[in-house]
Amino acid sequence: MPQKKKQTPMMEQYAAIKAQNPDAFLFYRLGDFYELFNEDAIKAAKILEITLTSRNKNAEDPIPMCGVPYHSAKEYIRKLINEGYKVAICEQMEDPKTTKGMVHREVVQVLTPGTYMDESAGDGKNNNYLVAIEKHQQTYALAYVDIGTGEVRVTLLNNIDAVLNELQTFQSKEVVLPQGSDYSFVTLLKEKFRIVVSYQEKKEKSQLIATVMDDIEEASCQEVLTLLLSYLSDTQKRSLSHIQKAIRYQPDQYLKMDTYARRNLELTTSIRDQQKAGSLLWLIDRTKTAMGGRKLKQWLEKPLINQADIYVRQDKVQSLLNHYFERMDISQALSSVYDLERLVAKISFGNVNGRDLIQLKHSLQQLPTLRNILLATQDDIWQETLLKLEEMPELVHLIDVAIVEDPPNLITDGNIIKDGFHSRLDQYRDAMTNGKKWIATLQQTERKRTGIKTLKIGFNRVFGYYIEVTKANVPLLPEGLYDRKQTLANAERFITPELKEKEQIILEAEEKSASLEYQLFLEVREKVKQHSEKLQELAKQISEIDVFQCFAEISEEKHYTRPKILADSKTITIENGRHPVVEEVLGKEKYIANDLKMEEGTDILLITGPNMSGKSTYMRQLALIAILSQIGCYVPADRVELPIFDQIFTRIGAADDLYSGQSTFMVEMVETNQAIQYATDRSLILFDEIGRGTATFDGIALAEAILRHLNQSNKGKVLFSTHYHELTVLDQELLGVTNVHVGAIEQNGELVFLHKVMPGPADKSYGLHVAKLAGMPTSLLTEARQILNRLEKQDKKAKVNDDGEQLSLFMESQFDLNEKEVITELNDYPLEKYAPLEVMNQVHEWK
Ligand code: ADP
Repeated sequence: MPQKKKQTPMMEQYAAIKAQNPDAFLFYRLGDFYELFNEDAIKAAKILEITLTSRNKNAEDPIPMCGVPYHSAKEYIRKLINEGYKVAICEQMEDPKTTKGMVHREVVQVLTPGTYMDESAGDGKNNNYLVAIEKHQQTYALAYVDIGTGEVRVTLLNNIDAVLNELQTFQSKEVVLPQGSDYSFVTLLKEKFRIVVSYQEKKEKSQLIATVMDDIEEASCQEVLTLLLSYLSDTQKRSLSHIQKAIRYQPDQYLKMDTYARRNLELTTSIRDQQKAGSLLWLIDRTKTAMGGRKLKQWLEKPLINQADIYVRQDKVQSLLNHYFERMDISQALSSVYDLERLVAKISFGNVNGRDLIQLKHSLQQLPTLRNILLATQDDIWQETLLKLEEMPELVHLIDVAIVEDPPNLITDGNIIKDGFHSRLDQYRDAMTNGKKWIATLQQTERKRTGIKTLKIGFNRVFGYYIEVTKANVPLLPEGLYDRKQTLANAERFITPELKEKEQIILEAEEKSASLEYQLFLEVREKVKQHSEKLQELAKQISEIDVFQCFAEISEEKHYTRPKILADSKTITIENGRHPVVEEVLGKEKYIANDLKMEEGTDILLITGPNMSGKSTYMRQLALIAILSQIGCYVPADRVELPIFDQIFTRIGAADDLYSGQSTFMVEMVETNQAIQYATDRSLILFDEIGRGTATFDGIALAEAILRHLNQSNKGKVLFSTHYHELTVLDQELLGVTNVHVGAIEQNGELVFLHKVMPGPADKSYGLHVAKLAGMPTSLLTEARQILNRLEKQDKKAKVNDDGEQLSLFMESQFDLNEKEVITELNDYPLEKYAPLEVMNQVHEWK
């Protein structure tokens, strides 16, 4: 084995630290820079677009290196994190100036995508979840934490689809698994998520873990929490006292939607660019605080399925709608409320400064106002909120007497604690002020004494206070009293013992007061920290009030109505329903409202109509109304009665499906299958043009079979749009299928979409109309008409021949002539005459 070359002590230290953080970019602090070496350097230089150099350029094997300045490191770190990487920050733990030999270095924090708090990104309205999963036989324990708000939740799931669905719901950026997890499981997650960490957890349980697990009883749940929290402590290496008690939840406590449904319905992001704009969240988000914004998003991701819970929310919205002025006051009050959840996190990290505390005070000062407003409604529905919306006068008072109204950013430079808060601080401050006053008057006294009009008192960092006299005037100074300190071109600077004595008092007072202020600030911060739990409870209440005022505001402005929820009914009644987002984009005048009625016995609404007439808008409209209704908001319609859905499934073609060919048919079938497998009699299914991704016969056959299957297996309410006119006869055979169509008319030679949904199937020869309007040659259109007639005749014949068997869609007469020829050829084929390869080629040709 070749002898390993001896490394410098620094590189040895580097290698040791790097070995402990193999999966993170190691930012190794060297003076004013963070340096990266070896593989890290090569990779980072590319991603960060910075120059790759090397250490020991002239040596035989120079070490690749790149670096970023300490003061601008944040930007680079953010970029790496956003790309899905981890960054370990390694600091110098001793002052290099006073240290002999190697400076001790340590990783002080590992920044990871799931724990990163990017304050400058202004995305306070988004949670960032770190998720951990442990598999025990067929059960998956899943826990997540948002380090920014301290929320922790844990659940048990019994299939992988449910796990993926939860993960996608939170759009989690980082998933932690125990080392040695099932290989196929790890691979599957790695395909879907950018960063999957295998982590070897510590065996000992910290105080943090014990506190967080207080209310959790199941062993699996406890294990996954231990994994999650030890990973968290290990990467953060700082106080995590703000992490709240874990809440055990059950995904089926909420309306379930799979990934496809969430995406297709554009609940929180639009399909086109995955941004908030254009989504339902974008439309209804009138929250005033970041906390409220996060809460709204959480509610939209998990609508309720319990009637009583939905009623409570609706009642609160109604209360605010009944009290216009109170509502206005609430939104005004909320506008001055700061992000209390994140503030508590900052306190725990020791990151808050004076400004944060002042903002906390202003937020808390809104509490009496908020309480009074809620009391003024005289609605009992707020009782519980009022109980929990505790005012915190002692905390307000503390901050008020301790912290100046406009403190500086830094907490070490003083000017942060109010006069009168601490007597010693006041003494120092007096000493400073008196000393400065004394020095200010000294100039006058000295001028009088010496008769030098231009004599000045000045201050600099090197010499402190001095008396400055121009060279010409120096002889006027009395001998022996003045001590020369500095000679300038035209002037001399002197000090006197008296001056120095005062100076010392001032400087000492300044220094002492700054450090005393720092001390006092830390004490105040510590006291605030003791209120963390209360502040988190307050944050919860305030964020909910914020969402209710948001619901009320949007409902009033957009003329939404309170839906009547009949948990046990199977009837849907919507009068003049609108698609909230399309309505917003088009403008209310242009939007055509539509009714939707499905009686108890109707389970499938078969929707036909030309392209672009509004079929899928109509379908989505129902789903969005149902979701708004189950989060407790009012809905865009004149009158609504709905059951409570347990799940929503969708198969809705997106615009880009049209471009991306083959594989999308697979997606189509996968999405369809989700509904077929998992829907119950309480589910809502939207199927938009099932089968259009494959050949016509294939498509029709599948579509019909799917319809029949849904009809037989009692899968709740189904909206099924199709351009296969052949399917519209099914209503005669199957109970529970009803035809509707979206109307369009020809007016002055133009096609006019009415966007109005009407009873019965659409006109069959619609395509010919459109072709005519598009200006196709008359001869072509005549021929098309003839072909249509022929096909229709064949269709009838086939049905007569068909013994009434409905799958007459595969009409023999419609088979391609070629197919008959193929069958004949196949029968005559002398198989024994040909080599296998030749046979294969022939079969391929027939195919
Ligand atoms: P389809 O599914 O029938 O192809 P879409 O539902 O995609 O049609 O609707 C096509 C367009 O028609 C939409 O982008 C929208 O601008 C408009 N539209 C749909 N429904 C309505 C309506 N009820 N009122 C007004 N315009 C509508």
